[in-house]
Amino acid sequence: MRICTLASGSSGNSTYIESKGSSVLVDAGMSGRAVVSGLESIGVDPAGLDGILITHEHIDHVKGAGILSRKFNLKIFATEKTWAEIMPSVGDIPEYNRCVLEAGRVLHIEELQVEHFETSHDAVDSIGFCFHSGGFRVGIATDTGFLTDSARKHIDGSDLFVFEANHDPEMLRRGRYPWPLKQRILSDRGHLSNIAAGHCLASLVNGKTRGVILAHLSKENNLPKLAYSTVAKVLADAGLATGRTLSLEVAPRCHPGSVWELG
Ligand SMILES: [Zn+2]
Ligand SMILES: [Zn+2]
Repeated sequence: MRICTLASGSSGNSTYIESKGSSVLVDAGMSGRAVVSGLESIGVDPAGLDGILITHEHIDHVKGAGILSRKFNLKIFATEKTWAEIMPSVGDIPEYNRCVLEAGRVLHIEELQVEHFETSHDAVDSIGFCFHSGGFRVGIATDTGFLTDSARKHIDGSDLFVFEANHDPEMLRRGRYPWPLKQRILSDRGHLSNIAAGHCLASLVNGKTRGVILAHLSKENNLPKLAYSTVAKVLADAGLATGRTLSLEVAPRCHPGSVWELG
């Protein structure tokens, strides 16, 4: 499997996943042009994608989806409730490219098995994804106020995690966001803080896990170094030292991160 975050954060999210010739994006929350240039920079032809999987309707996850679907004839996969919400932002998509993700149903894209699970976020039906291929598993969970049981069940012990470390609670409290927005971010239907991400990961990572990519960092209320050091410390305290066997990195905000190869 090959995995690469193309962009991550409130100005746009998209992650590329490929296995044995099948490939998808999780979200396309930047302009179509930014997604295309991200893909091209890692040597991927967007016309070869098998589709775009949508986690939820917020614009930082769907902005480029409609344009890319029309330009490259790509399927868009979303739950029924999310479809109803994204219609205005994705625009006209022909029926044959409108695919509905059903709860509990595994999606097979050739060798790539895709499962989804519920997250806890202020969206109608937000989800995360788990990808299986060739004995490897990749778990993607962002935009969630806490780690749901369903997320835990699907991504526990993954080989690679793309996991939210959105904010530092102190920076958020002291920052300039209005109080209702601060409350929303801190709530059960908001975003995971660095420290919460660390504790979740300490219980999800096992001896088989190769890497953790911290994702969806807030530009206002977080710093890549702070997210990294907070999570690294919680993992180390749990006996999970990061380094050569367990890599920890932060997904860059506006350009592709490192390209992961599993298997
Ligand atoms: Zn969101
Ligand atoms: Zn988001």
